[in-house]
Amino acid sequence: MVLTSLGGSGEKGRVGFLLEDGRKRIVLDYGIKRRLCGGWKDIYPLEVKEKVDLLYLSHAHQDHVGAVPLLSFERIISSEPTLKLMKHYIYTWFKTARRYELPIDAERYEDFLQKEDFKIMNTMIFDGLFFKLGKSGHLLGSTWVKIRWDGVSLLYTGDITLDSPIYRFDEPEKADVLIMDCAYGLRRLKPREDLLNVLDSLKGNRIILPLPSVGRSQEILLTLLNSGILPVFVDEKIVRFFNFLSEFKEWLKVEPKIESVNTELPEKLVEGIYLTIDGMITGGTSLKLYNLLKDDEKTRFILTGYQERGTTGWKILNEEDRAMQFIWKVHPDFTDILTLIDKIDPYHIIIFHADEKDSSDLVQELGKLGFKSSVLEMGKRLKLGEIT
Ligand SMILES: [Zn+2]
Repeated sequence: MVLTSLGGSGEKGRVGFLLEDGRKRIVLDYGIKRRLCGGWKDIYPLEVKEKVDLLYLSHAHQDHVGAVPLLSFERIISSEPTLKLMKHYIYTWFKTARRYELPIDAERYEDFLQKEDFKIMNTMIFDGLFFKLGKSGHLLGSTWVKIRWDGVSLLYTGDITLDSPIYRFDEPEKADVLIMDCAYGLRRLKPREDLLNVLDSLKGNRIILPLPSVGRSQEILLTLLNSGILPVFVDEKIVRFFNFLSEFKEWLKVEPKIESVNTELPEKLVEGIYLTIDGMITGGTSLKLYNLLKDDEKTRFILTGYQERGTTGWKILNEEDRAMQFIWKVHPDFTDILTLIDKIDPYHIIIFHADEKDSSDLVQELGKLGFKSSVLEMGKRLKLGEIT
């Protein structure tokens, strides 16, 4: 079995891997790099010219599914929620690309978005190929996959969160080769509950938390409510996703019910906590409140996730020093990476989701601990039966 990287290893975004045995072809995720400038080669994964037999989708985020309309494939393997959420994320990318005049094959995206009849695999054994999916705790519907094929077993984590306050997690199994989400590199993150101490230390201010509409926003809202903290304002898009969650209770650790929260921006912007959309302050209530309050001394912005270069979030964090950062964990930190390696016990690890520097630091550190790992740059191939 030969593994080819289509993107996402040694860089952030556009994750994709191709597996082939000379007869069949499988693609694991096919995402885009979410940038607001750049050409085709900066945004999209490596082109796959021939039709693929199976397309496995780990979860619905754009960096894992955004380029799927460019792929020709026979069948999809994914969870039901991923399939339901996928089109929304692809459509959002289509709109972003249009708005920022980024290169996009509009015809293929439009065709894909109209298509209804995706053929889903309902058996996990296919021509000597064996698949096992487990919940990966990162997003509604997110999974890891174990593939046994051609005498080798491989575990691809997709994006993985070992201890989400909302999403269930299944322990992954042992495998020969591990393709692992290493988004935070060697960093060990603070416990999520520490955000409550940060908020407490800022009491008396207007505290703005710009968030994506789906993901850590639901985790943060539930954590606040469970600690008896009621925000002044919660963007209604954050609340709306709880209704969707309630259709998929088997994916959740908690009841997706929340007590009544205020989804109307108050006329007088009093002190307290505001949960706004979006996470990088490029639009919505985040940008609205930013424009109103950017020069106000009693307003603090707390950024809880990755900020793309050029966005307002990136600017106030890196250039103007006007925001605080508290990374809310949604990927494995270094402690979690070691836990995963211990469970899966692979003889080789391929790192993805971390930039060049973080990846090479990680390869070095893992080497010191006796683990073999590497980056597989876009276009590079690895014969999995031959690595030891
Ligand atoms: Zn993700």
